[in-house]
Amino acid sequence: METALLEEKYPFLIKYFRSGIENPNKSIAHCILFYGTDLQAQYDLALEIARLLNCTGDKSADCGCLNCNWIRQNQHPAVLTISKVDNKPSNDDSKTVISIEQARMIKNDLLVTSDYHRVLIFCDKDKDGNILGLNENNFQEPTANALLKTFEEPPSHTTFIFLTKDKSDMLSTIISRAQCFFVPSAKDENRDFSLVQEVMNGYLEIDRNNVLDLYEKMFELTKENDSAEVLNQIQNYMAALLKNSLDNPLLKIKLIKDINAVEHAKDELNLNMNIQTILENLAFALVLDR
Ligand SMILES: [Zn+2]
Repeated sequence: METALLEEKYPFLIKYFRSGIENPNKSIAHCILFYGTDLQAQYDLALEIARLLNCTGDKSADCGCLNCNWIRQNQHPAVLTISKVDNKPSNDDSKTVISIEQARMIKNDLLVTSDYHRVLIFCDKDKDGNILGLNENNFQEPTANALLKTFEEPPSHTTFIFLTKDKSDMLSTIISRAQCFFVPSAKDENRDFSLVQEVMNGYLEIDRNNVLDLYEKMFELTKENDSAEVLNQIQNYMAALLKNSLDNPLLKIKLIKDINAVEHAKDELNLNMNIQTILENLAFALVLDR
């Protein structure tokens, strides 16, 4: 996936990792766990983190440094996918799991120092190479146990990223050692916000002088779609941001306020108020009430 696109889709996650990585102490966790239904998006995010950690250029989306190019082609020598079909020792004939032999190989490889920031992405794949999530069948306890010490105290410049659909699929020993991030999918059932995503992207940063632009765009959406569905999806969008707002209490408060503002708009719609008035009030509430 294009980096720019990723930045639009996951502004908070990218911002979080970018600022952590640009911090002189590279203060992001050694063990990161992504969960959610869009495994490819998780994988793309993992590669983006690897890119930001290894870039020797300006870290921009179109940086042309060697590290960035390697990672875009998924050919970086220190950015490895660890799955039942990737990076196995030659004498390993296990086909359904990340094996203990693989765990041992990883441990040995990490003993050798590297010029790069190593990123190991643990996931599963189907027979067509699509990214799937880890679970207790493909990443079993003995394998995880063989690596626990390494996960806890990794060599410097090493980051482990785990991809899974649901946190409950993962061994608790991994969960407790990882910093966990929900990666929302625009296609999640009942939490769909694909209709409003483009309009709502960046609404938190809209300048108060442009409040009517937001109103106009929301109104446009209701011309072609059911108004109640538009309001529902705006709420879903905010709920996804909320899940994603990490340890930012101010942002959380703002989002909860906004979700309530949309709830109020839904009430007004039920009272058959004019949709233009409802959306105008909503736009003002979202942009001016910060
Ligand atoms: Zn670069």
